[in-house]
Amino acid sequence: MTVLVTGGAGYIGGHMALALLDQGEEVVVLDNLSTGFAWAVPPAAKLIVGDFGDSALVDQIFADHRIDAIAHFAAKIVVPESVSDPLAYYLNNTAKARNLLECAVKAGVKQFIFSSTAAVYGEPAENPVFENVALAPINPYGRSKLMVEWMLADVAAAHQLRYVVLRYFNVAGADPAGRLGQSSPVATHLIKVAVQAALGHRDGLDVFGTDYPTPDGSCVRDYIQVTDLVDAHLLALAHLRAGGGSLTCNCGYGRGLSVLEVVEVVKKVSGVDFEVRLKGRRPGDPASLVAGADRVRQELGWTPKHDNLAEIVEQALSWERRLHNRKAG
Ligand code: UDP
Repeated sequence: MTVLVTGGAGYIGGHMALALLDQGEEVVVLDNLSTGFAWAVPPAAKLIVGDFGDSALVDQIFADHRIDAIAHFAAKIVVPESVSDPLAYYLNNTAKARNLLECAVKAGVKQFIFSSTAAVYGEPAENPVFENVALAPINPYGRSKLMVEWMLADVAAAHQLRYVVLRYFNVAGADPAGRLGQSSPVATHLIKVAVQAALGHRDGLDVFGTDYPTPDGSCVRDYIQVTDLVDAHLLALAHLRAGGGSLTCNCGYGRGLSVLEVVEVVKKVSGVDFEVRLKGRRPGDPASLVAGADRVRQELGWTPKHDNLAEIVEQALSWERRLHNRKAG
C-alpha cells in the first residue's frame, strides 16, 4: 500500500517521506511547492506538484495509486502571519482540508494522520498541558487547525475513517544522517533564526517579549526534534493499520525552555556570540507551552531518541551550513 504525504516537500513532511521510504513504504507526495522544494522530496517518492485542495487532482491520485493512509502536513504555520492574514489560514488549513477529507471519504481511504499544533491550547492555565483540557486557541493559526480536528472527529463518527491527530509543540533539528533539514525560504522559527544568526547568514536575532510571566520573562516552549516527531507518525500509522481507534496526542518532550535559554545554547554550541536585541511581544504568542507527553508514549509506545537541545541545535547548524553552501554553489 501507499501513503499519501501532503506537504512532503516541506520540513516535517519531507522527513516523513524519508522515514516511510526507509521502512520500505511506497510514498506519493502532493505539494504545491509554495514553501517546499522539489529537491527535498526523496527521488524514491513520487512527487505530484499540486494543491491538496484541488479535489479533481486528489480524486485522480486516489484512482491512480493504492493509497491506504494520508499523512496531512501541508499547511501554513506562521503564527504572526495568521494574525495579519487570517483568511489565508482558514482557506489553506481549514477549507482545503475539508476538500481533502471529502475526497478521502469518497475514495474509501480509512486512515488519516493530521499535523495539528499546540496552538490549539492557546494560553493554557497550567503547563505541562494535557490533551483533555478545554481548547481555546488565541490566534487564527490555532483556530484553523482546531477546526480540522473537529471535522476529523465528526467525519470519523459518520464514516469508516480513523485518525491520529498529533499536536506538535516546537519542531526543530534535522535528519541525523544529514539528508534533510528545515529549508523554508523565510525563516521565522526561533532555532532556525538563531542558527542563521550564529552562522552570519542574518544580522543577529530579536527576542520577542521579555515581560512574560515566565522565569526569565521570555516565552517558554517545548522543542521536539524532527525525526523523533516523525517516529510518532510512523507509530500512528502502525496503530491505525492494526485497527487502532482514533486518537489525539501531544508531541513534545514535556520540558520547557525559554527563548533566552535557547539563544544561550545556540551561542554555546556554535561558539558565536551573535547580537541579541530585546524587543516587544510578537502578536499571537502565548507565554508558555509545554507538552504533557504521557499519552503518545503510552498509546503509541513512543520513545524519543534526541531529547537534547544541544544535539538539536548541532543538527540545525549543520543543515544550515549545507543549505547555504548549496545556495552559494
Ligand atoms: N522568537 C523570537 N525571535 C525570533 C523567532 C521567535 O523571540 O526571531 C520567539 C517567539 O516569539 C516565541 C518563540 O520564540 O516566543 C517560539 O516561536 P517560533 O516562531 O519558533 O514558534 P511558535 O511557538 O510561534 O510556533
